[in-house]
Amino acid sequence: MAATKYPHPWIQDQALTDRLLKLVDDEDWDLFGIADVGPLNEKARPGRRPKDLWPTEEKSLFDGYGIEPHAAILLGQTIAEPFLFAEQAAPGNRGDRISSCAELITLGYLMGFREKIEFQGFKTALISPSPLPDTKLSRMLATSRKGVVGRSQRFLAGEYGAWHTIGLLLTDAPLMGGDYRYPDVTTDLCDGCRACLDACPCGALTEDGYDADRCHEYRDNPDNQERASTHTVMKCMRCMTACDKKRIKDLL
Ligand code: SF4
Ligand code: SF4
Repeated sequence: MAATKYPHPWIQDQALTDRLLKLVDDEDWDLFGIADVGPLNEKARPGRRPKDLWPTEEKSLFDGYGIEPHAAILLGQTIAEPFLFAEQAAPGNRGDRISSCAELITLGYLMGFREKIEFQGFKTALISPSPLPDTKLSRMLATSRKGVVGRSQRFLAGEYGAWHTIGLLLTDAPLMGGDYRYPDVTTDLCDGCRACLDACPCGALTEDGYDADRCHEYRDNPDNQERASTHTVMKCMRCMTACDKKRIKDLL
């Protein structure tokens, strides 16, 4: 997989990036992109101010994770079938852990990649995918330029819209940002659409934003769930399923 470089040579390591990209190919992980979030302040090229390269507001999204990241790696899975978001109870030593298949797949990618990076001596911080609207996570994902934050507060990953589960691995490894499998997307993909707002059955999603408490109250009510079997339940995902991939693809 050849990487298209972004012009930030002071934080890039071609060989390391290529090694990790080969790993992604070997393991068949779905790499959405790598965002450069390096400590640019000290190393900006003459004539360019750090804030021109990485706005403070975006950079501060990555504060508080215990490392000074150079790169944010987006790994995840595009989803064709919403049933992958059905929640299952997986037995653990401290009781059942509830998660969806889609989240577990993505966590597997992230943990596998984290292991490889840490064995090369770099630090990492793992940020899990979210099955629900998550403004901060979506803004972090959007720094990769592989998509934009939608009206649903979900990250719209280009032609896949909201149909994906993507998490992040922050690392101080000097990886290159750039185009891998997915092209850059920075256009407004909502473009007058408000299908997710109209689809939300409890008013948790409005033009004013996302009300997490209201959303959880609705989703956690058994009357609003579909129980597929003893350990598998489907909760509301309408703000994802309302996102029309065909309409978005026609915009691109
Ligand atoms: S209640 Fe359903 S549609 Fe509304 S925000 Fe939550 S998951 Fe989305
Ligand atoms: S459903 Fe429409 S308005 Fe909502 S995030 Fe998707 S494209 Fe944007």
